[in-house]
Amino acid sequence: MKMGKRAAVGVVGGLLALSGAAVAVGAGSADRDQSAELAGQLDSARPKNVILLVGDGMGDSEVTLGRYYGKGADGRLNMDQLAFRGSSIHYVLSAGPGPNYAPNYVGDSAPTATAWSTGHRTVDGRVSQGPSIASNVPGSNEGFDTYLEIARDRGKSTGNVSTAEITDATPAAPSSHISQRACQGPADARTTCPTETKEAGGLGSIAEQQVDEQFDVYLGGGRARYAQPLAAGGTDTVLDYAADEGYTVVGTESELAGITSLRRGAKVLGLFNDGNMTTEFAPLFARNKAFYDANPNRDVQVQGGSATTRCRPQDRGTEPALDAMTRKAIDLLDDNRKGFVLQVEGASIDKRDHAADVCGQIGETLAFDRAVGVALDYQASHPETLVIVTADHAHTSQMTYVTDGQLPATTSYATLQTVDGAPIRVAYGTAETGVGATTSGSQTHTGAEVPVWASGPQAANIQGTIDQTDIFGVLNGKRPSRLDGSVFHRGGH
Ligand code: MG
Ligand code: ZN
Repeated sequence: MKMGKRAAVGVVGGLLALSGAAVAVGAGSADRDQSAELAGQLDSARPKNVILLVGDGMGDSEVTLGRYYGKGADGRLNMDQLAFRGSSIHYVLSAGPGPNYAPNYVGDSAPTATAWSTGHRTVDGRVSQGPSIASNVPGSNEGFDTYLEIARDRGKSTGNVSTAEITDATPAAPSSHISQRACQGPADARTTCPTETKEAGGLGSIAEQQVDEQFDVYLGGGRARYAQPLAAGGTDTVLDYAADEGYTVVGTESELAGITSLRRGAKVLGLFNDGNMTTEFAPLFARNKAFYDANPNRDVQVQGGSATTRCRPQDRGTEPALDAMTRKAIDLLDDNRKGFVLQVEGASIDKRDHAADVCGQIGETLAFDRAVGVALDYQASHPETLVIVTADHAHTSQMTYVTDGQLPATTSYATLQTVDGAPIRVAYGTAETGVGATTSGSQTHTGAEVPVWASGPQAANIQGTIDQTDIFGVLNGKRPSRLDGSVFHRGGH
């Protein structure tokens, strides 16, 4: 493939911003051929360590918003630094009689996480279990082994980190198999998945299965799920069960700091919030023109913002940030000559996008990107590490014209000032958030392909337009092909 000149815009290495809103105009050193540098990034060795970082709902629109707001027009995120970049196709399946299932082009986080966790698609709401005729009819777990289970069975250390409840769909997918994502704790499962409880002879709720998986490190929210009683009317909880099974249970950042080694089979379960973890930024909700007209004295720091509004950090108490959890997980897992496999999720990019909370969403994107930076720092000194960064599905937020009067009266929007000092407008158009509407859980996922980046051994398998299920094979480390050692593949496909 002939590599064309990069477009004449301000590029990294070109002129940086002088001050305020001034940014580079015209090209930097764009007339240099990059083929040799890219060839130097090819490494067909099987990775010793794998770190997969998932921004939930982090489509290109969410990435771009985070970049402009936090880094400016000429700035770049950590995720922009990875050598290879592709696009991931993430449709899921519709329930039906099978054996063939119709595509459902916009899915939720359970089947999408199942895709990279197991290499197979499934239906909405389902966690690493096959499709079936209806959401409340369990499918088969046969052939749905997850990449963390495979890593554990190979003797590698395993970790699972999220800013959501650790029993939420994305962290549940590599660590459990259940028909409905709602069955997070044993009481939830008795209500919603009655045929899959341990009493009924099943694998049990997501929390119980996570303990049974014996992964080395779990860090996130969801303490209330683990505090549910194992048996109806009983007093023993999943927390008690985890302690019996060898987990040290911690609940604050300082308690987590006190754990410095996983020698002799020690394992850690860090649960830092009863529910999802607290977001980095205080909320700022998009609203529609009717709302703004009816509320001329609204607090712009809460509703709608303005061309001079910046997001406000909020106090997260004793909860560790995602980058701190990622660093700690790597520190603990690194002590294994066979290596480790770690999943890290920035969960509330999605959750705040649902709520049309532009600051919540952007803050979580930037927090996620700092966790990517931690993984890349580790990789710099441990080059036998593959780092993959992706999203599970796309989401609603869109950058639009900043000018008033361009949007329909029913479209919800918010305005912020980027780090360059220039305004940016974000519209949320898949649910009403105007007068009388609630501000939570209403915008919908979207179906556009999502970015996937990689660097390190076998990163070249993440390139071009790939399928979300293809990531499973890369996570497990592919065996060398016949062309191994040939840097320039001139094949005909
Ligand atoms: Mg998630
Ligand atoms: Zn969502």
